[in-house]
Amino acid sequence: MPSRLPRHLPILLLLLALIGVSGFGAHRVALQLGIADLQATGLHRLDLYTASLEREIGKYAFLPGTLGLERDVIALLRQPADNGLAPQVDAYLEQLNERAGTLSIYVIDVAGRVVASSNWRRADSFVGEDLSFRPYFRDAIDNGSGRFFGIGTTRGEPGYYLASTLTDETRTLGVAVIKVSLEQLEKSWTTVEAPAIVSDENGVVILSSVADWKFTTLRQLDETTRSAFDQTQQYNRRALTSLGLQELRELEHGARLVRIAKEGREMASVYPVAGRFLAQSRLLPGTPWTLTVLSHLEQVDDIAQSQAVVAVVVVALLFMLGLMANERRRHLQDRLAAREALQKAHDELERKVDERTADLSAANQLLQDEVSERIRAERTLRAAQDELVQAGKLAVIGQLSTGIAHELNQPLAALRTLSGNSVRFLERGDLDTTRSNLERIAQLADRMGQITGQLRTFARKSSGQLQAVPLCRALDNSLALLETRLAQANAEIRRDCPQPEPVALCDVNRLEQVLINLIGNALDAMDGQVAPCIELSCQCVEGKARLTVRDHGPGLADEAISHLFEAFFTTKQAGVGLGLGLTISAGIVRDFGGTLSGANHPEGGALFTLEIPLANEAMPHD
Ligand code: ADP
Repeated sequence: MPSRLPRHLPILLLLLALIGVSGFGAHRVALQLGIADLQATGLHRLDLYTASLEREIGKYAFLPGTLGLERDVIALLRQPADNGLAPQVDAYLEQLNERAGTLSIYVIDVAGRVVASSNWRRADSFVGEDLSFRPYFRDAIDNGSGRFFGIGTTRGEPGYYLASTLTDETRTLGVAVIKVSLEQLEKSWTTVEAPAIVSDENGVVILSSVADWKFTTLRQLDETTRSAFDQTQQYNRRALTSLGLQELRELEHGARLVRIAKEGREMASVYPVAGRFLAQSRLLPGTPWTLTVLSHLEQVDDIAQSQAVVAVVVVALLFMLGLMANERRRHLQDRLAAREALQKAHDELERKVDERTADLSAANQLLQDEVSERIRAERTLRAAQDELVQAGKLAVIGQLSTGIAHELNQPLAALRTLSGNSVRFLERGDLDTTRSNLERIAQLADRMGQITGQLRTFARKSSGQLQAVPLCRALDNSLALLETRLAQANAEIRRDCPQPEPVALCDVNRLEQVLINLIGNALDAMDGQVAPCIELSCQCVEGKARLTVRDHGPGLADEAISHLFEAFFTTKQAGVGLGLGLTISAGIVRDFGGTLSGANHPEGGALFTLEIPLANEAMPHD
């Protein structure tokens, strides 16, 4: 975890910087826009209020001058000492004042003394008062007219003085003065939407929509000014405290940013009276006064602050979104890379599998070819073997043919003799002898049939079907086939067959062929011996049928032992042996699932052992 912070520190700093910049920027922009907006509204208000003030003041501007049209007024001013006209003028002014709705109207002679006044009835009437110190009087004498804001010295009533000289054809006779109350206007200002003030040439607020601001000063007054006020009694010795207005910044088009300090006491006002304001001022035409509209910046500040907050939140959100998008992009890139790697691995694997499959199928094809080749070779071999077996059989038959011929000739000769004798005995009527001759003939025919039958059986091609074969019977059949040869050799046969005789699973014809071959070889080996003897035995050993052929000849020569089962190996003279007998015999026995082995018997002579599987009892046999 601690390692994460330094890694994310630059991002955090960047985020903070972005937040700071965006917040500040948004605040500034919103503030400027707000101020511009406020400025436009302020200008509009300024126009409006100026127009209404001008209208209000303008209403009375002509009034002092019109008094010069009144003959009584002029006459009174020509002779101020003659007071006879004064009551009439007073009455006139009183009436006029009432009609015009002004505060007071009075006429001053050139010396500054009030000769007639609308308030002549009141105890504090101006009549007789010396107002030569009033600036408006002096201005009027000097310039023909004078305007002045001031507070009345007698009643302390604030008002606007409009003064105008009254002249005849030759000289200035005096000054007519109208005092107008601006309270009416102030009242109409209570409905304005922003604080508005009118300040005079001294910076004293003479008119304000905020009642408490009246007779405050916009700027600090020095002592000289203050003592001058005392002299003119312009503000009738009012305190003239400061409004507490502090200028902050100059803006375009004469606008200013100002701050009004919060006063200790609460002011009753519908507007905010303290804080930052946009101040816009304009000189009121025809007066030394300035109208100022103050627009409070609170709302603009609030908007700017909320805009800043919104900007900060938006930037933070965008930043977060950016981070998330970046994170997601990286995640997707990783996934894509992983998928590509996976795809690559998969393709590689598939390519390898294809290669291996191709190799395998090639190997398989090779194997199949080899197997087919083997099968073909085996078939060829089997065919050749069959042919050889057949040839072997025919060879045996060839060898036997002399004996067979002899064997058949004897019964044939006997048959001829017997049949000749039988005819004669029949002619003689010796039926008994004839019957015995015929019986003898039948026996001989049977014997001949037996011989030829065995030969046929031997020569017949094997079916290849394995059957249960009683071994002793097969042995007897073989001996029967070799009967002539055995007789010629005068060989002794010792046959050992247990009861019940072993039954092997094999082909009887081919087994007989093997036995004939082994017994034939034994006879060949003992050729010329005085008392040839062959020992034959049948037995069941270790679940197999074992058949042995032992002779009492010279036994197997060393060379013969090593080449015994090789094809065409023979020690016999040409034309006598082909060297195929044992080869074929071994092949036949192998077909039965058995073995054929040859060795020398310890007591002399050759011993051939044949082992073949025992047949199941349930199997059929001949
Ligand atoms: P062939 O009888 O045509 O020679 P065989 O394959 O039957 O062919 O015999 C091969 C050889 O084995 C014989 O030539 C002989 O030398 C030897 N042999 C076979 N049987 C005997 C036996 N009983 N005694 C001595 N030698 C034998």
